[in-house]
Amino acid sequence: MTENTHLPCLFVDLEKIRHNTRLMVQRCHQSSIEVAAVVKLMRGSPEVAQVMREAGVDLLADSRLSNLARLVDLGLPRMLLRLPSPHQADEVVRHSEISLNSEAVTLRALSAAASRHGRQHRIVVMQDLGDLREGCFDEAETLELARLASSLPGLGLAGIGANLACYGGVAPSPENQQRLVDIAECIRRELACECPIVSGCNSAAAFMLLDGSLPAGINQLRLGASLLMGIGLNDEPIPGLVQDTVTLTVEVIELKDKPSVPINSTALDAFGHKPVFEDYGIRHRALCALGKQDVSFSELTPLDAGIRIVGGSSDHLILDLSDAARRYQVGDSISFSLSYGGVLACMTSDYVAKVFNREK
Ligand SMILES: *Cc1c(COP(=O)(O)O)cnc(C)c1O
Repeated sequence: MTENTHLPCLFVDLEKIRHNTRLMVQRCHQSSIEVAAVVKLMRGSPEVAQVMREAGVDLLADSRLSNLARLVDLGLPRMLLRLPSPHQADEVVRHSEISLNSEAVTLRALSAAASRHGRQHRIVVMQDLGDLREGCFDEAETLELARLASSLPGLGLAGIGANLACYGGVAPSPENQQRLVDIAECIRRELACECPIVSGCNSAAAFMLLDGSLPAGINQLRLGASLLMGIGLNDEPIPGLVQDTVTLTVEVIELKDKPSVPINSTALDAFGHKPVFEDYGIRHRALCALGKQDVSFSELTPLDAGIRIVGGSSDHLILDLSDAARRYQVGDSISFSLSYGGVLACMTSDYVAKVFNREK
């Protein structure tokens, strides 16, 4: 951090992300699995995507078109993860080469757009394996959409895919991953068409990759959290990967000793909730320049384990420093590790600066 770094600031360690990506790419390629590097957590940062490209990923993926538009110069195929709306069809074929889909009306719109722009757009048809977010629940519909994707002008069938562990808490398993492989086989047999990609899952499948329980035939994983934060299913650390890739640093703007219980608290707080307090006596408290509009404080963990998050409001974070490892001054900075949701929120807050450092 330099003298004039604007705080609050999210520091992203590109070398740690490089390490994670290299290792996961190596593990995937050993099993003939290609890596779609998911950069949505980093708001489609070209700096991060560049490091991932150098580490050998096969394509770049994001759920938002505005993020994919930032990645045009990276020279890798771009995959749109969130199902496009039919109204976005022109932007979809301009900013991505592949997209995940589950609706015939959207495929027709994409076909028309691809033809208009003289492009070829490739489709991954999504099968819902029980997590109940995107995808056809019915295999017959998946087959029908695969047939449509392989026959409409301007489109091609890239393959099929499934997502898990995002809404319904359904973990990837040898059984549900095998089901996807079987559906791909069925498409190849019944439609006599190529269905090259079987895109099994997200970072939740990292543990199956490591213990060898991912069925043969799964040949793509879409990896975000594992590359960027070293975590997999249930946010558990993945062996060999580093987790402390992102740090949030904030600035102390007030230091005072105050009681832990307000004087005659009867009203609601700034967010309309009735606050409750426990009496810990007089505490040494810091007010920091970060607010609930930037990130939910439950997503933060102080790196100094003696610091406790007390609460705050839209623009203020209140910390208890009584048991902190060292003495802080006004103007000092205090750093936190973050959950996936915390990184995401800070990344999308215009009030939080971002620094992507190559070396620490
Ligand atoms: C976000 C997303 C991913 C990546 O998930 P991670 O858990 O970050 O690896 C993969 N596929 C889809 C469809 C997604 O939306």
